[in-house]
Amino acid sequence: MQKSATDQLPKIAIIGAGMAGLSLAHFLDGYADVTLFEKSRGVGGRMSTRYAQHYQFDHGAQFFTARSKAFNTFLKPLLADGTVQPWQPRVLTLALDEQGRAKKPYKRDWFEPHYVAAPKMNHLAKVLAKERDIHLETQLSGLKKTLDGWLLEDIQGHQHGVFDWVVSTAPAPQTTALLPQIFSGYADIRHTNMAGCYCLMLGLSEPLDVNWQAAVVKDSCIAWIAVDSSKPGRGSACSLVVHSTNEWAEQHLEDDQQDVEKQLFLALQRLVGQSLTQVEFKKLHRWRYATSVGSEQEKDSTPSCLFDPALQLGVCGDWLLDGHVESAFLSALALSKKIIPWLGSDASI
Ligand SMILES: Cc1cc2nc3c(=O)[nH]c(=O)nc-3n(C[C@H](O)[C@H](O)[C@H](O)COP(=O)(O)OP(=O)(O)OC[C@H]3O[C@@H](n4cnc5c(N)ncnc54)[C@H](O)[C@@H]3O)c2cc1C
Repeated sequence: MQKSATDQLPKIAIIGAGMAGLSLAHFLDGYADVTLFEKSRGVGGRMSTRYAQHYQFDHGAQFFTARSKAFNTFLKPLLADGTVQPWQPRVLTLALDEQGRAKKPYKRDWFEPHYVAAPKMNHLAKVLAKERDIHLETQLSGLKKTLDGWLLEDIQGHQHGVFDWVVSTAPAPQTTALLPQIFSGYADIRHTNMAGCYCLMLGLSEPLDVNWQAAVVKDSCIAWIAVDSSKPGRGSACSLVVHSTNEWAEQHLEDDQQDVEKQLFLALQRLVGQSLTQVEFKKLHRWRYATSVGSEQEKDSTPSCLFDPALQLGVCGDWLLDGHVESAFLSALALSKKIIPWLGSDASI
């Protein structure tokens, strides 16, 4: 299909300015007049960065891999200009024995390139967001169909629109709350369960005395530890990111947050075999919907995006594939291929 002049383009609202929403906006360049709505203060979603004092933490996605041709092609210019850089940490597997003492760690080899955005994870989202029409701190609460198209309502009662098409990239439970039940993919969204994850962020006045930069943890409430400041382009202040397992987070989702923080901190000290007296900043973050859970069979039977051309609604996001940064990108790509042929001049509601 031929790209048209901006003033005649169909109007598309994208809910969520994470990797899926921003990728979709990129694919629709020249085909649609896109407006993004994001409930947070910044872009990036689960691929974001927190700052405190002189510390910085990638508290969501730690790195990403690129296995598809499409994602590798997309990353090429971003690698060339340094927005994305390879991260080659020394990675160990840590575990505790039955007595709760640290077992001898063993080295893990990473056999494929692992990438991060530099100087922080949300820099990639910021680059993709440049010069886009994005309404930040706008949490949408529902959609209303009018004769002219879709009206969007936010939690403050303001209305936005009118839009010809609406796409949600919010995690499945949040998308369920937004889209009408007559949406053809509604059952797929409703049947997707997502699990939480706790992130403990630690700022250290002195570097951690270990010979690794990242650790995969077994048999613990902790799943992953990263010396976040070891990633390329970061500052010199030593920051640690500790992720709980999804199972443990689900069991403790509503627990007292100070208690959760304490348990993760104690487990960390046991794993590294040191009491971390140099910690001068400590903060817990709860990801309510970190990743989709379900059997491989369930995941394989779900389409990579959801599309209802009659209602002019769509859904994409990592949870429709395997819950990674690359899957958010691929789900958005799949949806763009379905929507673009409908964006001709006679495709209005
Ligand atoms: C702790 C953790 C660790 C991870 N580690 C890795 C990793 O190492 N490697 C990897 O590849 N992936 C990792 N991931 C997964 C990766 O972060 C996601 O796959 C990817 O960022 C998802 O992008 P998305 O755009 O599909 O969703 P999101 O990033 O969740 O974007 C959806 C956006 O929608 C917004 N939103 C939701 N509801 C509304 C609403 N009502 N109105 C307006 N906006 C709304 C949200 O604020 C969010 O910004 C990790 C995720 C977490 C949480």
